[in-house]
Amino acid sequence: MKVSKISVVGAGTMGNGIAHVAAMSGATVNLVDVKPSFLDQAMATIDKNLGRMVTKEKITEAQHKQTMARIYPTTSLGEAASKSQLIIEAINENFDLKKKIFETADEAAPEDAILASNTSSISITKLAAVTNRPDRVIGMHFFNPVPVMKLVEIVRGYETSQEVYDTIESLAVDFGKVPVEVQDYPGFVSNRVLMPMINEAIFCVYEGVATPESVDSVMKMGMAHHMGPLRLADFIGLDVCLAIMNVLYDGFRDPKYRPCPLLVKMVDAGKLGDKTGQGFYTYNK
Ligand code: NAD
Repeated sequence: MKVSKISVVGAGTMGNGIAHVAAMSGATVNLVDVKPSFLDQAMATIDKNLGRMVTKEKITEAQHKQTMARIYPTTSLGEAASKSQLIIEAINENFDLKKKIFETADEAAPEDAILASNTSSISITKLAAVTNRPDRVIGMHFFNPVPVMKLVEIVRGYETSQEVYDTIESLAVDFGKVPVEVQDYPGFVSNRVLMPMINEAIFCVYEGVATPESVDSVMKMGMAHHMGPLRLADFIGLDVCLAIMNVLYDGFRDPKYRPCPLLVKMVDAGKLGDKTGQGFYTYNK
């Protein structure tokens, strides 16, 4: 199946980036969120990011305009899904909220439409099980910022069909991305490897082994990491890091994934990183 009609549900950080790359590839995109003001904000962000690509001479002004014209903001998921071959869900990382989106999309979308989730850690198999088409549900895990980051983890649920996998893999290439196949286990590969490293960096601070600055310096200069793990934790959001550690801990029942008490305490205190202005570092909000 060649996919040219897509709905992206959730127009936040990831959703607007996914809409951007999908529309750039030539697809028509319905961008869905709960409030018109969120959609206005997302459209302004996409416009600004495409404008930046024009300045850098990566695309022409005509391509900028054509891309914007392919994105249709809407608050009606049912209507958008009914006209789509693929629905990519990118709402908040909460199973109960995502479940509702999958149920509505399953009800409204054409029988052969594919339902995908950009979840960082929730089981694709569990989301697939709330639909009547578990063979047509798949994970499409993009990375932030979507227009820049090359990787898409393509996550096979327990019943994902080969045809659906092949369609999504080739679509990711059309989006200018590099697809990597992973199976549906907690954290997939990206967060299963990354989050325990971040958690261990937090333990280093908790146990007084080193300051956040020193931990980050070691990893940047000694391991050639672009960002230190604690700066990265602030960028991702400490609440998100904690939620992913809990998914790993619950999913594997292995104490090596226990979240560091300092991470839990900082989240309890509302020190979530960049988005609150305070995490391991202080930021201007
Ligand atoms: P976000 O908070 O920036 O955006 C979520 C958007 O979903 C908001 O605009 C919200 O209004 C909208 N939304 C909530 N309920 C909705 C509903 N019922 N219908 C339509 N829209 C709804 O979140 P985000 O950072 O873009 O994350 C989205 C998903 O992507 C999560 O599952 C997250 O785990 C995953 N993810 C995030 C990152 C990241 O770095 N931020 C990276 C990879 C994957």
